Order: sequence, then structure tokens, then C-alpha cells
Amino acid sequence: MAPTTTTKTGQPFDRAQLDQLLRRRMFMAQSFEIYGGVAGLFDYGPPLCALQANFVDFWRKFFVIEEGMLEVEPTILTPHEVLKTSGHVDKFSDWCTKDPKTGEIFRADHLVEEVLEARLKGDLEARGQAVLVPGDGEEAEPKKKKKIKAKATAVKLEDAERDEYSNILAQIDNYDGPKLGELMKKYKIKNPTTNGDLLDPVAFNLMFQTSIGPSSQSVGYMRPETAQGQFLNFAKLLDFNNQQMPFASASIGKSFRNEISPRAGLLRVREFLMAEIEHYVDPEGGKQHHRFEEVANIELELLDRDVQLSGHTNTTRMKIGDAVSKKIVDNETLGYFLARIQEFLKRIGVDQTKIRFRQHMANEMAHYATDCWDAELLTSYGWIECVGCADRSAYDLSVHAKATGTPLLVRELLKEPRRINEYVVDLDKKKFGPKFKKDGKAVQEAVEALTQEMREILSLDLKEKGEIEVPVSGVGDGKVTLGKDLVNIEKKERVEHMREYVPNVIEPSFGVGRILYALMEHNFWTREGDEARGVISFPAIVAPTKVLLCPLSNHEDFKPIVRRLGQKLRTLGVSNRVDDSGASIGKRYARNDELGTALGITVDFQSVKDKTLTLRDRDTTTQVRASEEEILKAIKSLCEGVESWEEVSARLPKFEGQQEVETKE
Ligand code: AMP
Repeated sequence: MAPTTTTKTGQPFDRAQLDQLLRRRMFMAQSFEIYGGVAGLFDYGPPLCALQANFVDFWRKFFVIEEGMLEVEPTILTPHEVLKTSGHVDKFSDWCTKDPKTGEIFRADHLVEEVLEARLKGDLEARGQAVLVPGDGEEAEPKKKKKIKAKATAVKLEDAERDEYSNILAQIDNYDGPKLGELMKKYKIKNPTTNGDLLDPVAFNLMFQTSIGPSSQSVGYMRPETAQGQFLNFAKLLDFNNQQMPFASASIGKSFRNEISPRAGLLRVREFLMAEIEHYVDPEGGKQHHRFEEVANIELELLDRDVQLSGHTNTTRMKIGDAVSKKIVDNETLGYFLARIQEFLKRIGVDQTKIRFRQHMANEMAHYATDCWDAELLTSYGWIECVGCADRSAYDLSVHAKATGTPLLVRELLKEPRRINEYVVDLDKKKFGPKFKKDGKAVQEAVEALTQEMREILSLDLKEKGEIEVPVSGVGDGKVTLGKDLVNIEKKERVEHMREYVPNVIEPSFGVGRILYALMEHNFWTREGDEARGVISFPAIVAPTKVLLCPLSNHEDFKPIVRRLGQKLRTLGVSNRVDDSGASIGKRYARNDELGTALGITVDFQSVKDKTLTLRDRDTTTQVRASEEEILKAIKSLCEGVESWEEVSARLPKFEGQQEVETKE
């Protein structure tokens, strides 16, 4: 059920009002709108482009530069073999269900979720406990889009039924297609519009297929993540890093997923910007992180998989240091990134009361992951996964190395040589070939794949019986007998000077559009007495425009001052815009509050006389007045987060002039 979220000032959040603002002020527009639009595709307008550019800029500083990561830009078009090897061709899919009569297609987990949520809502209504959800159902979607229309009808549920529904919803992400099909049958889930029967869920691959070059034989895909391109460059990057481990690569770029039923505006789209990190770590020694101490005391809201499987969604607030030592979070490197993700989200202005980290349940985890935590942000659409942080183990590097025969591993000179005692298998290849002929390779591979435990047992068999039996699938009756003349198994000592290992990968993966949308929701509010107009309180670090330059009027005397200020601000790297339209100062400020412009400078006749300026803070609308030099210094420190507005307004003289008299449009 979409929750009732509130703004920073405690008012109920009004999604319809924000959506309207985002379109009116051209943050975004439906792509191909005049052709009727395409679901899941949006164009970003100037404010959202600037917000995104500032996000990317800060992300680079916070992660790539701070941690010495190696940024790469792999291509979007990816050949079939790569994504076949990575598992995406076979497994990167969602479950969809079709109404055979109308041809409508629904994403099965979303349908089950929405129908059960609607029934729970109907139950609340029937018992007179309905909650009003502002903006509920008003989605930023083109007219043609097919929505799930599960409507809440006031019908009471049995207590047991209510509990069952809540239990299912707590672990909805854990169900595969057959299980979703069972739920649909058990709870009589049908096409919400026509009440028609639906077919069993089938897997739908989310990749967009194309061909690379003129031949339709060269199948390729628009990448669904940036990760594979990073993995394929692993050996070169390790070399670039002078063979030093650990290290991380990073990439910022578009990914594409053919979502079954995109909805919820920017939250589920078919083309989106990702910022991904692949941190390569030695799997031996517990995946420690050398900077873990720096984050160990940071507290996170954790929702682990056991809680979800018990049918609940309550979180536990815990220091990441404790979560790792208690093994709730598997290792230091994963924990380090969870804490860093939270710090990043906090710095860009995500509401700290609306972040939680949810662990994936076993079935929900992507095919490559061994553990995964999502940073979820609370929005009016519910808790939304905005950053995934997965331990991909050695999966990707191993499969690509196997498929291509290219070693994707680390070779390290050992400080102390290692003496290793192990069972070694020797085959007499001269006799082996003629005996097994076409099966020779399979038999040899089966023998070489024997584990140390098996080799120990078989070495005893060989001594006692003079022959051994080895399982070989697909050859004879599934096993072959090898005599002493063909094979020898003996314990031998060898000295190792080098160590070889395939690194494990910890991957924080940021969906930029989702975070930007959550940021807009979290920072949107309206002023008392001026509810028709919104304010978006972006922190200066990401605000699309940092400073509005506002001459009192069109008077010629103001022009050189405004020009000079613009130039000086640009030299300081502070983005600014001039609004010298005929509207009143109050109206101009209000317009820019909607765009989230952090600060405003007014140039008036006093400025012409004595070079003083007023500086206005968007959130409090309070102003200070000081010399041009002082004002520019204050702007720089506000934009860099060195000083807060409270600090600036405490040290510079307050200004309570005429300009703030807001004239309603
Ligand atoms: P995943 O690889 O599925 O863990 O996705 C990584 C991140 O990409 C998620 O945390 C989301 O923020 C983002 N993401 C995934 N799918 C979409 C989508 N259809 N629209 C927008 N963002 C998405």
C-alpha cells in the first residue's frame, strides 16, 4: 500500500502537486509526447539535467577520487557471447502473466502485490480505518500505458487471511514464477480490469536485442548494467594499477531494461543512468577493508532476510561495525560500502528518516550474487530500491575466463614460500588415448576434477585393489575403471612462490534517476499561506542552480553589476542565472524556489552606491546584507558545505527590506 509520506514540515506529501511542478518547470517530459508517448521513457529538461550533472560530479568526488577508483567507459552495445556467458541471456528476466482474451500483460509479482494490497486497503476501509493517500494512483505516465487497476473495495477480511496477505507481501520479492502462479490461483487473482483468467507466469527477458552490423547473425544487446564491460577490462586495469590489490573500477553510463509494465514515473524506466563500482577484493582473510574503522560507528537501519521471511518488515538500527562482527552483514568490504552509500545519500539531501538497507532473500538474489543489500528510500510509491550492493563473489571473472581462456586472476609473489602437501593425479597419456578414444577428454577432465578428499580415498583403493572407479557423466554407464597402468595418485609436496586467485567483487550499483526522484520528493514542500507553490530544498551541492541574480528592476545601472557578479561566480565555479524579468522580486524568488535554487542575490540602488548586496536563503527566506566580497565569500563556503546558513546569518548583518514582500501570481 502506498504509504502516506510527509514533507519536511510535517504536511502530507502531495505527489500530484510535485508531478505537476516537475512537468510545468520542465524538470522532465514524457519522451515522444506529441506522438502519444512511450511508457518508461522520459526526457530530462534543464533543471533535471543540471541536478543529474551535479549528482554525477559529486559521486565522482565522493567515490572515484576519494578512493582512487579507476573509471572506465565501456560500450553500451554488447555482443551475445558476453551476456550469454554472464548468465543474462538465460536468467535476466521477470515473470509476466497474460490475459489470453484481451492480450494484456502484467508483471506477475506486481500484480499479486497490488491486488493483495488493495484487498488489505479495502479491509481497512470496511472497518472504518482507511488512510487517505495523497496523490495515490496519479502516476506520471502516458495515456496509452496499461496500469494495473487493482481497486480497493471495502470488504472485510478474516483475521487469518489478513495475516497471510501481510506475510506474503513482506516476502513478495522472494517468489519465483511457479510460486507466483500458485498464489494467483490460491487467492483468485485475475485481470483487475476485466476479471478475466490469467495464464501461468512465464519468464520474460529484460534485455533489448539488436544486431551489431548488417548481419542479423551478429546478435547484440543494449547492456542491462555497466558491470560486464568493467569485468572484461579487469586484467588491463590490474596492470594499470601495477598489479596492486585491492582496487576498484567505476563507470557511469546508460543501461537499458525492457521493463514489463513501467510505471511510477522515473522510478521504473526502460533507459536509465547507472553509476556502478566493482571493488575487487582478495577472498582470503574475510574480505577486510583497510578503511573500515572510519565507518564502523555509522548507524544503519537494517532489514535482514530472516525478519522478512518471518513475514515482518521492522528494521534494526545498528552500527555497521556490530552488524559485520555479528555476521548480519557478511564482510567488512560489503559493510564499508553500505555505510559509504548512506553517507553519500545524506550529503546530497536524502531524508535520513527515509533510508533503510534491506537484505535480499535467497530466491530474490541475482544469479551472480552471494549476498546483497539494497539501500531503499521511502517515497509515496513505497520503499524503492535505489542502490543495490551485491557481493558477486568470483562469479563474473570466473565465467568470462572459462569462456575465453583468458586468465582473469591475480598472481601474487608470496612473502614466505608455501609448502603444500596434496594428492596429485598422474595419467599415462600414451595409453590413455588409445584406450578411451573419443571419450578420452571427458575421462581426463573427470579425473583432474577430483577433489582432494576423493583423491585420498581413491589413492587407498588404488593401493589395495590395483584399480579405481571414477564417475564420468555421459560415458558408458556413468563410470569408468582405471588400473594402475593408467593412473597414479600420490601425496606430494610442492613449494609455492606465487599465489593465484580470482578476486571477489563487491558491487555498489546506483540507479541515478531513482535517487534523483526520491531526492525531489524528500525535499519538496510548500510554505504556509502559499500552498499552491512548491519549494524544493536541494542542498547547494546538488541544486541545479546555486544562485539567482535578481536586479531590482531593468534599470541600466544594475546591468554592469549583474554582469560582473555572474562572471565572478562562474570563476568560483558557482552556477547562476539572471532573472531580470518584470515580475516582482518576491515572484521571481518564488519561481526559483520551485527550481530549488539555493541562494539569491538582489542588486538594488544601494548596491550601485556602496557595492553592498543582499543574499537570500531559499529555505528560511531570511536575508543578509554585506559587501560584494563578503557575499561572494559566503556563497562559496555555503556551496562547498563549509558553512551553514545559520552560521552565515549569525556573522553577517541581517537585512529586512522590501524585496521579500511576496506578490502572488
Ligand atoms: P540491479 O542491477 O537490478 O540491482 O539495479 C541496480 C540499480 O539500478 C537499482 O538499485 C535501481 O536504482 C536501478 N534500476 C534498476 N532497474 C531500474 C529501472 N527499470 N528504472 C530505473 N532504475 C532502475
